[in-house]
Amino acid sequence: MSVTFLLGIRALLDDNFGLTAILAMASAIFFISQRIQIKFESSTGRFISVSLLIACLMILVLALLVTGGADNTGPLWIYLVAPVTMFFAGFVRGVLALIAFVVVCVMLFFVYDDSLLLTSYSYTFKTRLLYSFITVGFLSAFYEYSRERSYRTTLKLSEQFERMAHHDHLTQLMNRRGIQTVLESEYSRTQRSNRCFCIAIADIDHFKHINDSLGHEKGDDVLVAISSIFKHRLRKQDFLARWGGEEFMFVLPDTNIDQANKVLTSLRQTLSANPLKIGGKELLVTSSFGVCEVTQANNVSDAIRDADKALYIAKERGRDRVVQIVEGSVV
Ligand code: GH3
Ligand code: MG
Ligand code: MG
Repeated sequence: MSVTFLLGIRALLDDNFGLTAILAMASAIFFISQRIQIKFESSTGRFISVSLLIACLMILVLALLVTGGADNTGPLWIYLVAPVTMFFAGFVRGVLALIAFVVVCVMLFFVYDDSLLLTSYSYTFKTRLLYSFITVGFLSAFYEYSRERSYRTTLKLSEQFERMAHHDHLTQLMNRRGIQTVLESEYSRTQRSNRCFCIAIADIDHFKHINDSLGHEKGDDVLVAISSIFKHRLRKQDFLARWGGEEFMFVLPDTNIDQANKVLTSLRQTLSANPLKIGGKELLVTSSFGVCEVTQANNVSDAIRDADKALYIAKERGRDRVVQIVEGSVV
């Protein structure tokens, strides 16, 4: 925009009014294209802005080829087309636009040169200009392709890191950090909608004994098997995370304490009635659960503390059971 504007002023000082008009118009279109891009952040806005910019640049360069510009130096600006087109349009659209541009240039130079060109270029100049333009176009396309590829790789890596930061490697469940995000969003939803949700913590019973008798690796297999049972038995809207070593956290949205009790009791019964298959052997594993409701009256950290307290009581009362805390009292 600035370059075409300054060159327009230069052309005006040289009394070249035709060139002044072309450059001023191009400068204005570049300005409009930039405003569209800033104002409309949608992909349609960007598409319109980029199409306008590239079409304007190509028409400007074609006008310079037709007129010759100042002292027949107009064709020099052709080299701007390739990098600008690639940068704004991306690899695929950029290549298509450049092919179309080369075809138009070939027609202008070799088919309609007599009728359209207002200046004359030697045959050698025209062919060399096109060869060098195609070379620059090829290099720009190659750079854009490499840039897009490395951008995609970076994006994939950052998604992987994001996943690793919020998920547990062994069970593939969310980890503490992951469920913390869920808890925050559920809590603010609860505050807005005047509803409640439940938090539960499950702890596998006598897991140390399992580790001691089968070994740590088989202990890991037990954790994976239990996570899979919990995950598949939960309702679609529920969240499950590995809260600690052999502890799991459940977040049950739009669920009151009675409904939560039903869901968790069914999970507990499934676990205690179906032995796991670990290393070809059957192993009956049970789990204790502590559950608490999050309402307008308490908050997430209070509820987690109460769920933990309820779990402790479940262990004290003999394990393999669900204990609820409602308004500070054990039920
Ligand atoms: P309780 O019924 O009271 O919960 O008894 P427990 O033996 O399950 O409880 P305790 O907290 O004493 O033991 C938990 C064990 O879990 C100890 C620890 O070595 C084991 N553990 C923690 N994380 C992992 C893990 O990732 N893999 C395996 N295999 N074991 C783990
Ligand atoms: Mg424990
Ligand atoms: Mg335990």
